[in-house]
Amino acid sequence: MAGLSQQEIARFQNLLGQRREALIDAIHAALVKSGDESFIELAGRVHDAAEESVAELLMAMNISSSKRETAELADVEAALARIRNGVYGVCSDCGGPVGRDRLHVYPTAKRCIDCQSRRENMRGGRDSTPSL
Ligand SMILES: [Zn+2]
Repeated sequence: MAGLSQQEIARFQNLLGQRREALIDAIHAALVKSGDESFIELAGRVHDAAEESVAELLMAMNISSSKRETAELADVEAALARIRNGVYGVCSDCGGPVGRDRLHVYPTAKRCIDCQSRRENMRGGRDSTPSL
């Protein structure tokens, strides 16, 4: 439907999974370095948390030292959820294909280039709110 083969989707899933691990490691390190006990306790939980819940957990804590990583992690986890739901590569706005080339550059893209630029013009900024 999205013009992506199972094989291509599996490759993106693999790529996103690796990115997720790298981000969690970076966030974990930042939490431990912060020296705050509640953060250290959370850092322990970050590694055990089920797919999907890590970014949510971190956003709820509002940890400034890893905000950028947390935002990216949320995008990565949302993309992994779309793969599981069979809607990866399908634009969340118009339902059309996001486009293979665009996904190679932005594997977490949830909109086609047309819908994304329309939004950016409308909001005057990058939309980082994950919507499933
Ligand atoms: Zn679209």
